[in-house]
Amino acid sequence: MNADEIRRAYLDFMTERGHVIIPRSPLVPKDDPTTLFTGSGMQPLLPYLLGAQHPAGTRLADSQTCLRVQDIEEVGDNRHTTFFEMLGNWSLGDYFKQEQIPQVWTFLTAKVGLDPDRIYVSCFSGDPKNDIPKDEESAQLWTGLFQEAGVSSDQVDVGTEEHAAAVGTGGARIAFYGKKNWWCRGGKAEDMPVGEPGGPDTEIFYLFPTVEHDPTFGEHCHQNCDCGRFIELGNSVFMEYRRTETGFEPLPKKNVDYGGGLARIAAAAIDSPDVFRIGLLWPIIERLQELSGRSYEDETVSMRVIADHLRGATFLAVDGVMPGNKAQGYVMRRLLRRAIRFAFDLGLEENFFPQIIPTIAEIYEAHYPEVGEHAEYVEKVLVKEEQAFRRTLRKGLKQLRAYRGTTVTGAELFVLYDTYGFPVELSTEEAGRQGIVVSETWRDEFDEHMTAQRERSQRSTTLHV
Ligand code: ATP
Ligand code: MG
Repeated sequence: MNADEIRRAYLDFMTERGHVIIPRSPLVPKDDPTTLFTGSGMQPLLPYLLGAQHPAGTRLADSQTCLRVQDIEEVGDNRHTTFFEMLGNWSLGDYFKQEQIPQVWTFLTAKVGLDPDRIYVSCFSGDPKNDIPKDEESAQLWTGLFQEAGVSSDQVDVGTEEHAAAVGTGGARIAFYGKKNWWCRGGKAEDMPVGEPGGPDTEIFYLFPTVEHDPTFGEHCHQNCDCGRFIELGNSVFMEYRRTETGFEPLPKKNVDYGGGLARIAAAAIDSPDVFRIGLLWPIIERLQELSGRSYEDETVSMRVIADHLRGATFLAVDGVMPGNKAQGYVMRRLLRRAIRFAFDLGLEENFFPQIIPTIAEIYEAHYPEVGEHAEYVEKVLVKEEQAFRRTLRKGLKQLRAYRGTTVTGAELFVLYDTYGFPVELSTEEAGRQGIVVSETWRDEFDEHMTAQRERSQRSTTLHV
């Protein structure tokens, strides 16, 4: 099954199981000024998980487009992209663990066809300090499923993350972790206000035995090791407790929140530990290879970054964001300019967005018709940004190189931003690769200049009026 088929199969499977398929929310949250982007399938549903009635009922599912700027540094590895789709399903006071765990299992093994012997899971080890019990029920359900499939079902009680790293599991099928497998808003059980819901989660990983464990991530490889040998496909959060004055009590109405990465499931389906090999990304990489005459093997990181950033910027444009100096527009600008910078290294020094955007539109238009409908508009917006930055990219790089041997100050980074259009994160990253030292106080200095400039421009507009 390819990614398109998996997305379809998932939504059909959930429909058969009584779920209503809800449309994706845009990348910019509608009524939530506290966050720039929709970063998970759960985010738009939070009000309903906290008790509001959803108009579509108690069983919901979707494929949610997500953007995580916080993962930008991880783009380049085998499994993180800033833009991705999360397959989600929710039970709002309807079914619970007994139905959710076999449901995910059946989808991944029977529908997608993943090898049960390569599926590993993690469960919540409990939190004695806060008097929250170990999630034995989830572990028992998993044990039953593994036994039925005729694969091992050993457990390891690592208790805490520190233990996990030290003891290692060497591949125990069910590993118990502490706070990694606890969900609540804000993340920490002890910081939850009275009345706040939370609960354990159980995560599903796929083992890629062809990836060798990298000991720089720790002596032993285990479910939560970051070397890329185990890849997290998805997880189910079980909201079952409520904070009280003294501890926790069971919630009268329990919820399930599941989120699974479409790209990662699709990669597992073709037995590739590299998500860029799937049909949603590979055509972009192929285009980049043709245009640059370089190979993906030699230019893996650059090509991954460019493919991801242009795809993310395309969806941002489809959802109404324009490159700019603030908020979402700034992030979009940063993605585009970073893609241009990486392309420069591939010898792509002329405008190349027009050669890539149609490929992205072709990949997504069947499932997201809005991407096809707005393809021309998207191209116009992105190309304008490309042209603007190209005019100053070379000069800006030269300027930055001129700082070699000195310590670059926040004021100088501001010049790069203001005169050459270098988003400050791009400049500091570039300095890093050129071995140029950046002053420790650059952020404060840069912000001061930024504020001063804003004040100046506000004064001048007031004067004009
Ligand atoms: P990881 O530890 O791999 O970064 P996560 O714990 O941040 O994953 P969740 O927030 O639980 O992930 O999101 C649910 C699912 O969404 C993950 O299991 C994964 O399949 C997918 N996912 C999360 N972040 C990314 C990303 N940056 N790129 C692609 N898929 C992702
Ligand atoms: Mg993450």
